[in-house]
Amino acid sequence: MRITHLTLKNWRNFRSVDVDVQERLFIVGPNASGKSNLLDALRFLRDIARVGGGFQQATASRGGLQRVRSLAARNFNHGRVQLAISLGNAEHPETWSYLLDFTREQRGQHRPVVTRELVRHQGEIVLQRPDAEDKIDAERLTQTALEQVNANRAFREVADFLESIRYLHLVPQVVREPDRAGDRTEDPYGGDFLARVAKTSRATRERRLKRLNDALRIAVPQLDQLELIRDEDGKPHLQARYRHWRVRGARQDERDFSDGTLRLIGLLWSLHEGGRSTGPLLLEEPELSLHASIVRQLPTILSSVQRSGGPQVFLSTHATEILADEGHQVVLAESAGAARRVERHEETAAGPRLEDARVVIAGGRGLQDPSNFKLLDDLAAAIGGHAAVGASRAVVDAGWVPYSYQVGQTGKTVKPEVYIAVGISGATQHVVGMKGAKRIIAINKDADAPIFRLADLGVVGDALAVVPKLIEEIQARRS
Ligand SMILES: Cc1cc2nc3c(=O)[nH]c(=O)nc-3n(C[C@H](O)[C@H](O)[C@H](O)COP(=O)(O)OP(=O)(O)OC[C@H]3O[C@@H](n4cnc5c(N)ncnc54)[C@H](O)[C@@H]3O)c2cc1C
Repeated sequence: MRITHLTLKNWRNFRSVDVDVQERLFIVGPNASGKSNLLDALRFLRDIARVGGGFQQATASRGGLQRVRSLAARNFNHGRVQLAISLGNAEHPETWSYLLDFTREQRGQHRPVVTRELVRHQGEIVLQRPDAEDKIDAERLTQTALEQVNANRAFREVADFLESIRYLHLVPQVVREPDRAGDRTEDPYGGDFLARVAKTSRATRERRLKRLNDALRIAVPQLDQLELIRDEDGKPHLQARYRHWRVRGARQDERDFSDGTLRLIGLLWSLHEGGRSTGPLLLEEPELSLHASIVRQLPTILSSVQRSGGPQVFLSTHATEILADEGHQVVLAESAGAARRVERHEETAAGPRLEDARVVIAGGRGLQDPSNFKLLDDLAAAIGGHAAVGASRAVVDAGWVPYSYQVGQTGKTVKPEVYIAVGISGATQHVVGMKGAKRIIAINKDADAPIFRLADLGVVGDALAVVPKLIEEIQARRS
């Protein structure tokens, strides 16, 4: 489950935000344009839902209603603040929706009060407030149903999802000196980072550190053998071998790593920590302290982690380099009026360009899940340096892969020597983009799929079973 739509009214500097959200949402804009405020809307919902949190506390910790309400509020939405999200997946983007509308008490302590709380499940209303009891006892409106276990029973899934939203703004100094953060858990600045790594079971930790090391190699090729060690006092440290002119290299730990390396390690760990079952990861300016060449790789790293099951990501950034690489959805926070705009960006992927590749392997909805695109990456890798991965529009629209992957009438036209269509039905709009291929291979579980009409070779079967076998066979023949 992920957030599929976000609506804000009168939230901080935003008068109105109304965006569809995909797997990655990048929020760009100049200083003071409200990028953090957009992330903060999701943190606010998390703070309400979390144990020990609640509506009053979430508002008070932000300096009260006057601080979270837009200055332009008076003339819009009756001066009330509104946050609304839809939750679901590509197939069912509105499995759940949650809306909270609030203002402050007219008299007395001017506490924030709920003016409307509405939850729908598959379009059916599950909760609607104010209800009869709220009318009898107005005090109830100082709390949301979201924060109360008795009241959120019918939509506990939404409450749990919101509670699992994570926010990260790593400060290398805090990671190096965790004592500064006291005994805080879930410290967004990284005070608990080493403790979290240490707490992870050994097998998971080693697997994650290995994957992390592979991803890090793009950015810091000299660093390898990342592992967790403990010093004489039992304190955990992240240690790595730093290869230099001495053949054996030197051991370094987080106290020696550069700020950029440490931030990147923290970022990658957090991405691997949350799976698709947890709420989104909110990243505040991940580019800080990172070299521009590394920043450019970030979206590629993010999308590859997501393909292997990572969480949805919301990211605020100043860095135009981040937008230069992988395709993703961009919201532009504008300072004047704080309106919103959504753009799609082109990407330059690693390997040959789709248009130039001798072999194109394209995936469609039959792959079932975005993480299964990794199979196509693996197949391209097994084939060698001439293969590129493409996609049908159905999966691009669903946010599984960037627009730059799209083949067809409204995407790219390709004429490779071999085109392998995996789980693609063969709709006319797709076919016009690939029918110039010399040879067409189709893998589809439906023997009547239109793609077989133009295929030179057809495999009727489950793509998730056929593709791994194909990879195995290619690798066996190559060795
Ligand atoms: C104006 C317009 C422009 C368009 N432009 C484009 C375009 O540029 N490019 C494009 O691609 N589309 C385009 N489309 C959309 C196009 O009409 C189709 O909707 C789209 O191509 C379908 O994508 P798909 O084949 O991935 O999904 P589906 O049509 O849902 O097909 C999925 C296929 O996967 C198979 N399958 C399911 N499970 C498995 C499994 N486990 N193993 C193997 N096979 C499985 C199914 O049998 C099915 O054949 C456009 C549409 C319009 C209206």
